[in-house]
Amino acid sequence: MAFMEAQVTVVGGGMVGAALALMLGRGGIKVVLVDGHEPNQDFGPVADTRVSAISEGSRQILAGLGAWQHIARKGPYQAMEVWEKDSFGKLAFSAEDVKAEVLGHIVENRQIQLALWQEIRQCPAITFKAPAKLAAINEGEQNLMLSLDNGDMVATRLLVGADGANSQVRALADIPIVFHDYGHHALVATVKTELPHQGAARQIFRPQGPLAFLPLWDVNQCSIVWSTVPQEADALMALDSTDFANQLRLAFDNRLGAVELLSEVQRLPLMARYARDFVKPRMALVGDAAHTIHPLAGQGVNLGLADALALAETLLDAAMDERDFGSLKVLAPYGRARKAAAIKMLAAMNGLKTLFGVANPLLKVMRNLGLNGVSSVAPVKRVFIEEARGVVVLDQLLSVQKKHQIFSP
Ligand SMILES: Cc1cc2nc3c(=O)[nH]c(=O)nc-3n(C[C@H](O)[C@H](O)[C@H](O)COP(=O)(O)OP(=O)(O)OC[C@H]3O[C@@H](n4cnc5c(N)ncnc54)[C@H](O)[C@@H]3O)c2cc1C
Repeated sequence: MAFMEAQVTVVGGGMVGAALALMLGRGGIKVVLVDGHEPNQDFGPVADTRVSAISEGSRQILAGLGAWQHIARKGPYQAMEVWEKDSFGKLAFSAEDVKAEVLGHIVENRQIQLALWQEIRQCPAITFKAPAKLAAINEGEQNLMLSLDNGDMVATRLLVGADGANSQVRALADIPIVFHDYGHHALVATVKTELPHQGAARQIFRPQGPLAFLPLWDVNQCSIVWSTVPQEADALMALDSTDFANQLRLAFDNRLGAVELLSEVQRLPLMARYARDFVKPRMALVGDAAHTIHPLAGQGVNLGLADALALAETLLDAAMDERDFGSLKVLAPYGRARKAAAIKMLAAMNGLKTLFGVANPLLKVMRNLGLNGVSSVAPVKRVFIEEARGVVVLDQLLSVQKKHQIFSP
């Protein structure tokens, strides 16, 4: 049993919590980081089923923290294609359109997490406890007193919940959530495709929901995210791997030829959630603990890393000015700005899901016009690409770096 003092305690060392801890630690803030689970460090020839589309903004955060360099397996993609089942509607864009080399990268979540942990273990300002969980929070005048389930105690100025969608910190802090069931279950798996993916991220919108093939580092491996209604998910999960792969090929318009399942199929119910408050006195939420969105635009972790960057900036600014960064006065602007960003993203995802989920012939004609319209109208296309590339984060990253020099060049 140990007693520790921290300026910030981050519960949850996933991609978002680990990145935040590192930003703060590099800025000289004394951090305790706690995670309940220590991931396996071995990787076989088949990619994990949980992957993320990392925008250029997020890539630069990870590179500046020294983590990107440790990631051995990354699937760069130069093109995106989105189309609708049984229609002419198609949206296509490429990195060339923005004079960039890539639009983004598909990376296994565990690779990103372990790369961040490697850097965390070398950062003297961070005390890392894993596996350990939060057991209780006691509120004092200037501090919170945290008890961990391994018997350790931490006196901390601020507690950050980065512990994912079912956040224990959010529950212990009594912060209610607003939620909406998307009525979709995501089936995720790693597949081998007959045709090479050629560095393109592809997504088809079916009446039951979107199906994405995300290109991995191996030109014949893709990660699939098949979002569908629970009834179809039940039927698909009951199939053997050959029949599942055949259904998958048909659902994907045979775009990459025959498909073979390389992994188990994992099923995840999809829920839109956001915390009513992202901050309370001496507490803040980041990442999936604060919000979850539909994976159809692959923006969840990008949104979370933008939270981490914004909170790091808030806390480093406050530390520089010797303000109490656990106070609501310091935390409130972070909470307002990031809640607004999450709600904007949730609304965009809802709009897309609703637009493509309605089987109305007139709407379908409008959608065809809309998708082809977007594809051919340069300025609108540019907005789509900038969102996918994380351009807003790039600006913020520069501003944080100018003040605090926490990123390696
Ligand atoms: C099917 C699917 C596909 C997706 N695809 C994409 C994509 O392409 N691009 C994208 O940007 N996003 C995508 N997302 C979203 C992305 O996976 C999440 O936004 C991201 O994982 C959130 O990261 P996080 O660090 O906030 O939370 P998590 O990844 O959930 O990490 C939480 C961490 O907290 C730890 N923890 C949990 N509870 C406790 C506790 N009580 N005590 C201590 N530690 C605890 C866990 O061990 C874990 O390490 C997708 C999501 C789904 C469901």
